[in-house]
Amino acid sequence: MLKEFKNVNVNYEADALVEINGKKYKIHDCIEGEDILVEVDGKYPKLSKVLKASEYRINDGCKYQSECGGCQFMHMSYEYELACKKAYLNDLFKGIRGKKDIDVISMYEPLNYRNKAQMTYKLSKTKQVVCGFYEEYSHRIVTVSNCMLQATVANELIENLNKVLSKHKIKPYDEKTKEGIIRHVFVRYGFNTKEAMLVIVTNGEFFPGRNNVLKDLLKLDLGITTVIQNYNHRDTSIVLGEENKVLYGPGFIYEKVGNYKFKISPNSFFQVNTLGMKKLYDKAIEMAEIKKTDRVIDAYCGVGTISIFAAKHAKEVVGVELNKQAIKDAKINQKINNITNINFIADDATNFMTHMAKERYEVDVVIMDPPREGSTKQFINAIGYLKPKKVVYVSCDPKTLKRDLYDFGENDYYVTKLEGFDNFSKTQHVECVVLLNRIEPKK
Ligand code: SAH
Repeated sequence: MLKEFKNVNVNYEADALVEINGKKYKIHDCIEGEDILVEVDGKYPKLSKVLKASEYRINDGCKYQSECGGCQFMHMSYEYELACKKAYLNDLFKGIRGKKDIDVISMYEPLNYRNKAQMTYKLSKTKQVVCGFYEEYSHRIVTVSNCMLQATVANELIENLNKVLSKHKIKPYDEKTKEGIIRHVFVRYGFNTKEAMLVIVTNGEFFPGRNNVLKDLLKLDLGITTVIQNYNHRDTSIVLGEENKVLYGPGFIYEKVGNYKFKISPNSFFQVNTLGMKKLYDKAIEMAEIKKTDRVIDAYCGVGTISIFAAKHAKEVVGVELNKQAIKDAKINQKINNITNINFIADDATNFMTHMAKERYEVDVVIMDPPREGSTKQFINAIGYLKPKKVVYVSCDPKTLKRDLYDFGENDYYVTKLEGFDNFSKTQHVECVVLLNRIEPKK
């Protein structure tokens, strides 16, 4: 059954908020003020048709948007998307002292910017090997043949791999029957080095026809610099397992960001937007105003990218990160960039900071870039104890950032700068960089 709604109100995730039989629902892919027709049968009511479109709606978006659900802002102009993200941040942080007008820095290119692609396999009705993304709230795979966010090179690689897999009749893994071989494909592309890593994720080591697949793939001359088979026999939607077998090339790629070069292994974290990453790090370093005499802590440092950007400005940097493999890569990254004043430590950031507070370590600047869950009260309290002059907080989730800023307030740190970065264009996500200064409490 279809139901019409006029002049809809839309939240910051581009969902129209409607009421059907006394129950509230969110209808994806809408724009403020539009008239819409909603398909109300089924568990989740869906947009059926836009009756009166907003002037900000665009028609050349992605044809998979409504099914795939990965891009919440694909249906609107980029200017309007930026304005929505700006309004969101200003609204969310309006209570934060010292902040008035928050800007969102745009991307050079809001499409095909992702250096990482990961897709899941299934067999199509015509028995072709195809891949795509999980539909929202389900385990149904929506076949996508040209994702508009992934690097064009990644799309090409995946399409060719799928043809080769189909030719050799390699069976996709079926979550229900637990049969089949190929689970996912994972690509990392170095936009600046043009190196490409192709990871084929299989349900264990067994991969009949592996050599023929590899031979056919390399014959196509697609610019692949390394091919890896990753074993993932776990019952989970996490794409990569822990074991890798290098089938071709060195098993990793390099990427250049600014003046630095980074080694990227399949399992190590690397920001997905290469151009955006440079803008973000430059801003974090600019806000930190690091002096040659400063001791800097880079918490949640991943493969050491921010530490490396900070090193030449500082006396010394300590990078701390939970993932041991990332720390190994960080040490290699320090070496290949001829830097000697960073000490990388594998530890939980909260443990490490608490330990530093106990040791009364002297620190001038803390840069932190936690995952979406944000940091911890204990970590922030340890900063309150160590009293660095400045903290630069890089965040990929404004909500957990806001929670953590209150804890910083309790430790006499206040926001002096806050900027948004549109590093995840076309999706609802937005990155933030915040400068916190310590203000000595009045006695
Ligand atoms: N600053 C890096 C990484 C940011 S992503 C960059 O820009 O590339 C967040 C990182 O925090 C990930 O590498 C993740 O492994 C790490 N992490 C997650 N929980 C952690 C914890 N409790 N302690 C330390 N690091 C953690």
